[in-house]
Amino acid sequence: MILYCASTNPGKLREFNLIAEHYAAGQLEVRAVPGLAAIAAPEETGDSFAANASLKADYYSRLCDGLLFADDSGLAVDSLGGAPGIFSARFAGEHATDQQNNERVVREAAPFPDRTAHFICAIAVARRGSTVQVFEDRVTGRLLDSPQGPNGFGYDPLFFYEPFGATFGETPAERKLLVSHRGKAMARMIRWILANGSTVEGTLGQ
Ligand code: IMP
Repeated sequence: MILYCASTNPGKLREFNLIAEHYAAGQLEVRAVPGLAAIAAPEETGDSFAANASLKADYYSRLCDGLLFADDSGLAVDSLGGAPGIFSARFAGEHATDQQNNERVVREAAPFPDRTAHFICAIAVARRGSTVQVFEDRVTGRLLDSPQGPNGFGYDPLFFYEPFGATFGETPAERKLLVSHRGKAMARMIRWILANGSTVEGTLGQ
């Protein structure tokens, strides 16, 4: 069964494939939408992770046959009122690097003793321009004031996950996906697709 994915972020794509392998080995293959890099991205005008995931899934599912999913995710820091939130990828500016985004979040959170932070992920599944289901999950950790670890991407090196006694930047991807916002949201999606996919998508199984 092929499931199209609307992401060009290599960090995310790696995780999506690992997760599909873990929860649905041999049953589900995640493929990027063909030619995705050349397709103009839709503007992320939603005011929530779910709204942005859904608008991306609707948009890209018009461009391929079959079921497609898109995700929207980010970091929400309690002391910053949930920022950077849906602006996580561009917190330090439109084309900001991970390092610049990390530096800004560290700077803004510095005055506050509450270090609680969450990664949140919404995944929307769509077909022919219309969302059929949205899944959301989160993981809670503690924001550090300096990065630790070479693994992962984005804010991973700043995100200390107590049960592992380590940041996600110090955690192997296979271990992160078992507890992460993306891993859990995707596990929900996979369970749902394996149970309902063939009734939603007549071409599944091809
Ligand atoms: P999106 O591509 O619009 O969903 O933006 C997601 C942004 O949130 C990424 O560029 C990262 O900065 C951040 N982010 C989301 N998930 C993760 C994660 O698992 N680890 C680290 N950063 C993440």
